[in-house]
Amino acid sequence: MTEFGLIEYVAKLFGDVERQEWEAIGDDCTVLPIGGGEVLVMTTDMLQEDVHFLRSATSARELGRKSLAVNLSDVAAMGVKPVATLLSIALPQDLTDEWAKEFLEGFHSLAKEHSVALVGGDTTSSRAGVSINVVAIGRGEAQRVKRRSAAQVGDVIYVAGELGVSALGLRDIFSGDVESDFAAQHRNPRPQVEEGVWLGARQEVHAMMDLSDGLASDLCHILKLSNCGAEIDVDAIPAVQGDVEAAVCGGEDYKLLFTVEESSAEAFERDFQLKFQYPVYRIGRVVASAEPTIQWFKDGDNITPSWRGFSHF
Ligand code: ADP
Ligand code: MG
Repeated sequence: MTEFGLIEYVAKLFGDVERQEWEAIGDDCTVLPIGGGEVLVMTTDMLQEDVHFLRSATSARELGRKSLAVNLSDVAAMGVKPVATLLSIALPQDLTDEWAKEFLEGFHSLAKEHSVALVGGDTTSSRAGVSINVVAIGRGEAQRVKRRSAAQVGDVIYVAGELGVSALGLRDIFSGDVESDFAAQHRNPRPQVEEGVWLGARQEVHAMMDLSDGLASDLCHILKLSNCGAEIDVDAIPAVQGDVEAAVCGGEDYKLLFTVEESSAEAFERDFQLKFQYPVYRIGRVVASAEPTIQWFKDGDNITPSWRGFSHF
């Protein structure tokens, strides 16, 4: 079974268990109303040695930061401020105390930056590399929550930064150039926490998620849950070094992807630029469609890109 096949199976299997007020799986976080017009949002992500990272190509400190960063990114993608985290680690016997301390220092440094409290976890040994599991919890007003299901036909589609950096970094790491700028960014992604919280307060922002698997794959989650399609202008994609394939198919950029009410788009772009001193990129629009598919355009022509079949997820 594929990753997404298994998730669908889980969702179906648990369809007969009462969820109380918890939101169903499928978004970046689940959502729980806690009264007073507020919600908690929760997410969890695992990082497994030799699947998500090579211990020889990353420092313990960077890994600590990244373990929290990828989870804060999912909370930010809901438009909510992260407030707490739980950390579970399984460590092999051969690992030094030094490594463990540096890992924790990295995790702590990012937690401190965002005032995210560590409120629990688990510590155990491992026979197959380092395993890390992080839970992140956010808290905020219910009305700011941005769901993948909220895109509307006519919305403008945006990404909040360049894409493909992480893929180029991974390419450098595999070719032995672990010191490159891209490699460093791959190991140290910046979750767009302030941006997510700001976007959460904007009524014209409809659907939002973070890009962890690549635009071609991730945008389809929004389209599926919002029952629509998308038209994307390939030339408008902010592909680093002009590498559109890396930008569209590469994972782990952790940039926010969101849709905005068309009539508010221009003022929105100006406000974002003023607030963050960098632009958001308008890459396309949401269209009516029976299938949750992306149509790619270049110079106004509908194209079938060669990288369309390229899929490692
Ligand atoms: P993300 O990339 O935003 O972390 P994923 O692609 O990992 O999201 O997961 C998609 C959705 O499926 C999320 O809502 C997640 O909580 C849910 N999910 C993934 N794996 C499982 C699992 N084993 N059991 C229950 N829900 C899962
Ligand atoms: Mg996500």
